[in-house]
Amino acid sequence: MASLCGRMTLNAIKKNVAYNSCRMFASKKVTLGDPLEHATGLEKRELLAKAAGNANPFDLCVIKQGPGTRERPTEIPSAFDARIVGCICEEDATSVNWMWLYKGQPKRCECGNWFNLVHKAPV
Ligand SMILES: [Zn+2]
Repeated sequence: MASLCGRMTLNAIKKNVAYNSCRMFASKKVTLGDPLEHATGLEKRELLAKAAGNANPFDLCVIKQGPGTRERPTEIPSAFDARIVGCICEEDATSVNWMWLYKGQPKRCECGNWFNLVHKAPV
C-alpha cells in the first residue's frame, strides 16, 4: 500500500511538473534573433543583397545558353579571374561537362558552345 501511494504521489508530481513546464513555455513567446543582426562578413553581404532584391547574388543559378558561337559566346559573370563552368551539352545528358574558364580567354566546350568570362562587381 505504501508503494502504491508513493507511486500515485510520484505520478501526480510528474503530471504537475509536465503541466507547469508546458504552461511556462506556452505563456512566453520565444523567438530567435534576426539572422541579419548576427551575420558578419560575406554572409551579411549576401543577406543584404537578398534583402535589396537580388535573389542570386553569387550567380549560382543555371544560366541559359545563348547562341554559343565564337562571335556571341555565352557570357558567364565572375568577380574573379577564373571560374568553373558546367555545360549540359545535350538536353538528355546524364552528366555535366566541367571546365575552367579564364578571363580574356573564351573557351569552347566539347559540344561546340563557346563561353566567355565577363567581369562582375563583387557582392
Ligand atoms: Zn557542352
